[in-house]
Amino acid sequence: MTATIKINGEECSVSEGTTLLSACREQGIDIPTICNAENLSPVNTCRVCVVEMEGSRTLVPSCSRQAAEGMVIATHSDRVRRSRRMVLELLASSVDLSRSEADLLGWIDEYEADSSRHSSGDNLDPPATVAQPVKLQDSLYVRDYSRCVLCYKCVQACGEEAQNTFAISVADRGFAATISTEFDTALPDSACVYCGNCIGVCPTGALIFTTEFELREAGEWNEEQQKVTRTVCPYCGVGCNLELRTQDETIVRVTSPSDHEVSHGHLCIKGRFGTGFVKTEPDTES
Ligand code: SF4
Ligand code: SF4
Repeated sequence: MTATIKINGEECSVSEGTTLLSACREQGIDIPTICNAENLSPVNTCRVCVVEMEGSRTLVPSCSRQAAEGMVIATHSDRVRRSRRMVLELLASSVDLSRSEADLLGWIDEYEADSSRHSSGDNLDPPATVAQPVKLQDSLYVRDYSRCVLCYKCVQACGEEAQNTFAISVADRGFAATISTEFDTALPDSACVYCGNCIGVCPTGALIFTTEFELREAGEWNEEQQKVTRTVCPYCGVGCNLELRTQDETIVRVTSPSDHEVSHGHLCIKGRFGTGFVKTEPDTES
C-alpha cells in the first residue's frame, strides 16, 4: 500500500507506514536528527527532526510520525527552522559538542545556532552546563557526560534494542538528569559486559575508546591520516562486520556498519576491543 503525501509543495508516493523522516530522505531532503539511528527505534527525545504538518497545532517529530494519505508537510519553514535553531542553541549552551559527529556540527552552522544568546543575567553570566568530571574507570572506554545530550541511544543499545544488559539508564530528572549505572557504581562493578554498543551509537563523543581519548588529550588525534578498513570479526562464526579505524598503523576505534544484516552495528567485547593481537607486518622490499 502506498500513500500520496505532499512535501514542500511536491506530491510524492511513499509506502504507507514509512516515517516522514524516511520519506523526506527518499526525496533527497536533509532533516537533522540527533536521537534517531537506523538500527534503533525512534524515542523522540531530541526534537530536532520536527516538521510542520497541515492541520496539526504543534510541530511533529518526523522520525516517528508515519506517512498517511493526504498529509501535507513543510520541512524547512520559518517555524521549523526557528524551532531547530532553538533546540541546537540550548544544547550547545549547556553541553560540550566539540567532539560531535560532523553532521551535528554542520547543523549548528546551517541553523546559525548561537549558544551565546542563552547567557543569563545583565552581565551575561555564562549559562549553566552539565559539566562533570570525565569517568576513567577501566582501560577500554571513557565516559564524559559533559558531552551528553541525553539522546538515549546508549540506553537503547545497552537494553532491549541490542545488548539486553540494561547496565545504564537515565538517573535523576530535569537539568540534573544523566546517564548512569545502577546506583552510579563504577562501570567494572556494574552489569556492563563491555560490548561497546553504547560507544557505537553515541553522536557526541561522550563515549569513546580510551585509545581515542588519549590521542585527543595529547593533541594527536588526526582524522585526515586515519584509514577505515572493513573486515570480518575473526573470533567466531557469526560473521559480524568490523570497521577498523587506524592511525599510524594502530587500531584506534572499532565500529560496525549499522546496515549489515548480521551485526546491525552492534558487537560483543571481543570484536569491539579484542584487537590487541593485531600486528603490523614490516614493509618488505620486493
Ligand atoms: S559497554 Fe555494552 S553493556 Fe556496557 S554500558 Fe555499554 S552497551 Fe551496556
Ligand atoms: S552518552 Fe551519548 S548516546 Fe548516551 S545519551 Fe549521552 S549523547 Fe546519547
